[in-house]
Amino acid sequence: MEPLDRSTIWPYREGEPGDFYYQRYAHPTGVAAERALGELEGGEALLFPSGSGAITALVLGLLEPGQTIALAGGGYYGTALLFEELARWGIRHEEFDQTGPPPDGVDLVWLEAPSNPFLTMPDLEAAAAHPAPVVVDSTAATPVYLRPLEHGADFVLHSATKYLAGHDDALLGAVTCRDEAAADELRTFRGRTGIVPAPDPAWLLLRGLKTLELRVRRQTATATLVAGRLEAQPQVQVVRYPGLGGLLSFDVPDGDAARRVETATRVIVNATSLGGVTSVMESRRRWEGERVPAGLLRLSVGLEDPETLWSDLSQALAHA
Ligand code: PLP
Repeated sequence: MEPLDRSTIWPYREGEPGDFYYQRYAHPTGVAAERALGELEGGEALLFPSGSGAITALVLGLLEPGQTIALAGGGYYGTALLFEELARWGIRHEEFDQTGPPPDGVDLVWLEAPSNPFLTMPDLEAAAAHPAPVVVDSTAATPVYLRPLEHGADFVLHSATKYLAGHDDALLGAVTCRDEAAADELRTFRGRTGIVPAPDPAWLLLRGLKTLELRVRRQTATATLVAGRLEAQPQVQVVRYPGLGGLLSFDVPDGDAARRVETATRVIVNATSLGGVTSVMESRRRWEGERVPAGLLRLSVGLEDPETLWSDLSQALAHA
């Protein structure tokens, strides 16, 4: 296992700084984790202290005031909120349907694969044909199912807090760049602005990556089983599950039913987030308001025994 080195400084050798001299610029644990992720994505990976920190650094590093982002509609609501913050610095965004081509005249295309919580897949080919750089937030698909750089994307973004680290105990983000010069620029921007990851979560990411494929394939198998059975439930109106991981969403008739179901589970934890070894489920209305149907429940399937999980979900659904 790679060592966890918490040093913030490393001695110069005969008056010369080596690869590591001050933690804000680079640290061995972070570089080891970046190498591991870069190999999985087929590009050059850079870590950030959270997925949101990675989004902020990437957008501020790439864009200038007056420029516009085309943002996949129905994706992570926090990304839209973050872009609203950046409007104060003159960076605009407009939402579009990512299952079709991005609008003309934008300076950055932002996709999500699959989107959270609507689970649509982006048209990567149409986006790659657009002249603007393309970012794919591939948090939910993970490199197990999608390597966006192979489909013409310029940057892959992850909330590594989710599947990559995988155990709900590390907050971390990542950007993987297709182009080395772009990675160098982003690394310089990261060091100067101090949007840097700490060694401890980087070490947890390294550990998580060792089981990523096993976890994600098992979560997908269980999610496929659960999604199929949900389709047959009379209380369930819509099931959204494109495969490609352990994330799904479904609708019960209304907000009261969603509240009753999410609070009736015993194995599935009623909490936010996704991508961990523990199954979590919540009504998204509480966070996203009118953007989502009142009865929408998002379920992140963990590593519990599939039948135990299903019997918990079906007894909870009886309260819908
Ligand atoms: N992107 C997606 C798809 C997410 O689901 C999240 C978090 O929920 C983020 C980005 C933001 O990541 P973080 O919570 O690590 O800042």
